[in-house]
Amino acid sequence: MREITLSNGKTVAVECLSCAITNGLIEIDGGVIVETEYFHAHQDVAYPIKGLVILASKRHIKCLDELNEEEMIDYINLLSKIRKAQREVLGIEHVYYFYNEDTTHHFHTWMVPRYEWMNEFGRSVESVRPVLLHARNELNNGENVNRVIEGIDALREELNK
Ligand SMILES: [Zn+2]
Repeated sequence: MREITLSNGKTVAVECLSCAITNGLIEIDGGVIVETEYFHAHQDVAYPIKGLVILASKRHIKCLDELNEEEMIDYINLLSKIRKAQREVLGIEHVYYFYNEDTTHHFHTWMVPRYEWMNEFGRSVESVRPVLLHARNELNNGENVNRVIEGIDALREELNK
């Protein structure tokens, strides 16, 4: 079990944070963007970047090759739909994707939009961590968080119509 401190200050003990989120045990800030039988999309508002989406499997697995046929199809379809919505609703031109298998969470893909301001942290994969830390430490203010929530709402509306 791990102790997780939520953004509202409450502490919960969970086996796996991803399981807790995708099963609806923990309500995340901004809520669910879209979900299917096998996947759950939300934003980690601890990293307030408008249009950032985390797409997590509902099943507790770690690696891409553990997905079964149905999950694979669902995954690529949902990933594509979210990407399209990021473009059409939020005007996001480029997205960086990553997932890592040696995580204490379970299988989830980060979809990190690329904005102009991120160029000061470099290009490509080495800029991702500094960008996320900058967002967490410097952009965690009311105005920006509101923009992030607007982004979540816009994506939710587009992806659930
Ligand atoms: Zn899990």
